[in-house]
Formats: sequence, structure tokens, C-alpha cells
Amino acid sequence: MLSTMQDVPLLISRILAHGSTVHGRSTVTTWTGEGAPRRRTFAEVGARTARLAHALREELAVAEGEPVGTLMWNNAEHLEAYFAIPCMGAVLHTLNLRLPAGQLTWIVNHAQDRVILVNGTLLPLLAPLLPQLRTVEHIVVVGPGDTSVLDGCRPAVHDYEMLLAGRPTAYDWPELDERQAAAMCYTSGTTGDPKGVVFSHRSVYLHSMQVNMAESFGLTDRETSLPIVPMFHVNAWGIPHAALMSGVSLLMTDRFLQPAAIAEMIEAERPTHAAAVPTIWQGLLSELAQHERDVSSLRSVVIGGSACPPALMRAFDEEHGVTVVQAWGMTEMSPLGTVAHPPADAADEEAWTYRVTQGRFPASVEARLVGPAGEVMPWDGEATGELQVRGPWIAAAYFGGKDAEPLRPEDKFDGGWLRTGDVGSITPDGYLTLTDRAKDVIKSGGEWISSVDLENHLMAHPAVAEAAVVAVPDDKWGERPLATVVLKPGASADYTELRAFLAERVAHWQVPERWAVIESVPKTSVGKFDKKVLRKRYAEGDLD
Ligand code: ADP
Repeated sequence: MLSTMQDVPLLISRILAHGSTVHGRSTVTTWTGEGAPRRRTFAEVGARTARLAHALREELAVAEGEPVGTLMWNNAEHLEAYFAIPCMGAVLHTLNLRLPAGQLTWIVNHAQDRVILVNGTLLPLLAPLLPQLRTVEHIVVVGPGDTSVLDGCRPAVHDYEMLLAGRPTAYDWPELDERQAAAMCYTSGTTGDPKGVVFSHRSVYLHSMQVNMAESFGLTDRETSLPIVPMFHVNAWGIPHAALMSGVSLLMTDRFLQPAAIAEMIEAERPTHAAAVPTIWQGLLSELAQHERDVSSLRSVVIGGSACPPALMRAFDEEHGVTVVQAWGMTEMSPLGTVAHPPADAADEEAWTYRVTQGRFPASVEARLVGPAGEVMPWDGEATGELQVRGPWIAAAYFGGKDAEPLRPEDKFDGGWLRTGDVGSITPDGYLTLTDRAKDVIKSGGEWISSVDLENHLMAHPAVAEAAVVAVPDDKWGERPLATVVLKPGASADYTELRAFLAERVAHWQVPERWAVIESVPKTSVGKFDKKVLRKRYAEGDLD
């Protein structure tokens, strides 16, 4: 028997209509570095979104299904693009401005972007790529910048505000199929070419509901969220879309991502919620140790993207009264997977045992662990395997290119499940603990050593600011861990002491024999430890 319910498509235009009316008084504030921040209400965002859609359709002939690139920081205009582009039926294609030029060029050409919205301050980055960007016909410059770098370039150049000026503040958003593409994002492609993940209206809608839920970020119109995670890194973890659904006000960093600037904007604007990768929080913690700043407005801080060192969580908790919540996800998952809120009845130290995990699965994310022979492992908190997931906001394939078949490489998809490439265990009550990415596990004499575990212990040492552990070849054991550490300013510790510190916390055979003190851990384009670079440096004899 079929239901008697209405079959209404889950569209982003519905989120926009809701956010710009019911939550019309909520605001998006963009930090400007000096002078007053730029404030706009969600009602104003709604009107400007309509104007942008008119401009894109009537002036630049953007068609349904067409990807439109954005090379932008987190700001109010990017939020307008986030809604105008999908609501009109086109596809928001966020471009990662930290990627090497070759990868960025490859991605724009692969997606066949014809129009790119770019912040004026990023023109020096885009201009040199233009001769290689085969499909780009229009550049829309958003905000101030030196446009002379575009002199003589092939694409037509437009000014964002001039394009919007005088256009209608309402748009008759089309009734799209909810499965239609709404946004796309390429993974940073640590191996091989970058892979495009295409989100649908339906997946964004459902994911936004999950982001707002109390068991995830718990956002409401009484709060202000500071997504430091860039809007080009998996849609800033869904916060911009979720904001117009829940009415949470937004504080946007624009290009001001230095720890001092972040501390200043938190003190001045008093957000209650924030989200970023661990390296950003590590930087903020050092900043706060040197300069007193009031960050007491922060109720909850989400850390994800890579394993959050427990020492970092404790420091925020104990020194600043800020609760750190770990979350795990990936581009292919929109990105939200698990969030580490402890069960209601776990208090104090028991709560910590849950908080240091990657978190628990929401109802819409089904998970299984698969062992080396393809066997499904139990959720007993002990057995480990590769994590596989499925659910309504999880990718079933990669974008193959315009008019090409979607890609389903076997190492990423397994009969309807996404292979995450992450290895870990799950407790009977659904809390995930990741020990490693499959490619980072250290296989020593038939046993596995978790690089994340060693790093977490090392980062709890008072002299250590950051630690990254990688597998290096070893004649006797196959592989052994190499520990690289960054010492805190003015601190010292020798290897004997660090080795002894670890020996008290892990099995003796796991303690590394190879050590290197480095100035900083190399980072990827989204601020994660780049272990590939460390392995290469070791192979080249640079870390002995
Ligand atoms: P990229 O592969 O470009 O880094 P993603 O941002 O999608 O892109 O990365 C997803 C991966 O990041 C996950 O598969 C996992 O390995 C890692 N990750 C994300 N959050 C966490 C976390 N809380 N703890 C450990 N690893 C994490």
C-alpha cells in the first residue's frame, strides 16, 4: 500500500524561501580586517540571491544543469552564490583556492565551468590560469581587487555589484527534480586526478536537517556560527545551507584566517559555535596562550577533517571553558558522518571516553566494518575493519565529466556502499573510533600500529605542538613508525624523553626508533597533515 502523503521535492529554493522570510532577521556578518564588518540580514541575502540569479540567467545565459564556479572566501556574497546557483537549476561548483595551479586548471576544465565568480583579492591566483582554462567565458569579480591583472584576457569581465544592480528582488524559482545536481566539489586528490562529487537538492536538504539537529551541531536562531572551514571544503560542512534552515546567524572570516584575526573576531562578534580542522584550533590555542582574548561566547566548537588530538580538546575545555566536539566525515558524505556527543548518562571521565572517539552515527548513515577477506566485522568496540557507509547524502559515484558515465572505481564503491578508506572499530552503541586511514596504517612485523594513536599521545606532551607519524620501510619489520614532532616555541625535549613518554602509554614495540624534529608539519590544501610529503622527505634522506 502506498502512503497518502504529498510528494513534495526537497529543494534548496525551499530552504532559501524559509530562511529569508521566517529567519529574515538573522544575519551574515563578513569580517573585513579593518573597520566595521559587513552585515546583511537573511532577508537581504534572499533579495540579492534573486538578483544574482536574474543576472546569471539574463546577462550570462547560465543554463539549467550548468556548473558555475566560485573561487571565493567565506563571505556574504559566497552565501548568495550558494543559493542563487542551485535554486535557478544550475550547479554550484566551489573551487579550492589552495590547490596547486595544475589541479585547479584540471578541475575547471573537467567540470567545464563557463562562468567563474571570483573574489577580487584572488585575481592574482586566477589570472595566470586563464590561458589554460578552455571553457571559461565570463569572470565575475566580487569585491575589491586589482582587475588590471585581467587586462587583455579572453573571458568577459563583470563586476558583481554592477551585475546585480537594479534587477528584481524576487525570482520564480523552478520546481526541479529533487535528485537534480545542486552543487559539486572535487576531493583534493591525494592520489590520481581529483574526483568530483555531485550533491543533489535532496541530499543537501536532508543533510542540512541533520547538521541542525541537537545530536549534530544543534544550531538555532538564538546562535551565531563561525564556519572557519572554507566554503570550498565540502560546503563548509553544510553550515551555510543549514543556516537558512535553522536561522543561525553566520560570522564569515573572509580571507582573515590567521589565529590573531580569528581570536579578534570571536571576541568582537561573540559567536556561540564554530567549526574548523584541528590545525586551525591548534593555532588559536597557541595564540590564546600568548595574548589574552575573550572566547567565552563559544558554546561548542566542532573539530573534524582529521583526528582531533585529545590534548587539544582538554586544553580548550580546561583553559577556556569551550567544549570541543569531534566530528568525522568526508567530501563523499556531504560531509557529515559521525558527531561525538557522549550519551546523556555518561558524565566526567566516562563522557571523555566517548568525546575522544570520532562520534556516533546518525539514523541516516548506515555503517559497516569490512575485514581483509570481505567479512563484515561486529560492532563490539574491538574488531577493526574498513569502514563502509551508505545513506541519502552519501555519494554513489563520481562525476565522470559532461556527457560521460559516472565513475565507480572498485576501491571506492562496494555494492551500494561507499568505501571510506578509513580503518577503525565501532562500539555496540554506534561510536566510531578511527585508528587510521588505510593508506597511513603502519604495518610492522604483521601487526598494525595506529599512527593517530601515537600522534595523540605525543601531542599530549607539554613540549610538543604537533606530531605526525608515518610508516617508513624497514628491513626487519617491513615498516616502522617515524615520529616527526614540532616543538612549542621555547620548549625542548630530546628523543629519549619522548620515547620514554610514549613507552608509558603504548605497547613497547610500537614506540618509534626514528625521530625528527621539524619546523612545521606539511599541510594539504584543506589544512590536514600531508603525510605523503613527509614520506617523500624521508625517502630523500631529508628527515634522518
Ligand atoms: P580529502 O580526502 O581531500 O582530505 P575529505 O575532507 O573528504 O577530503 O577527507 C575525508 C577524510 O578525512 C576521511 O576519510 C578521514 O580519513 C579524515 N577525517 C575526517 N574527519 C576525521 C576525524 N574526526 N578523525 C579522523 N579522520 C578524519
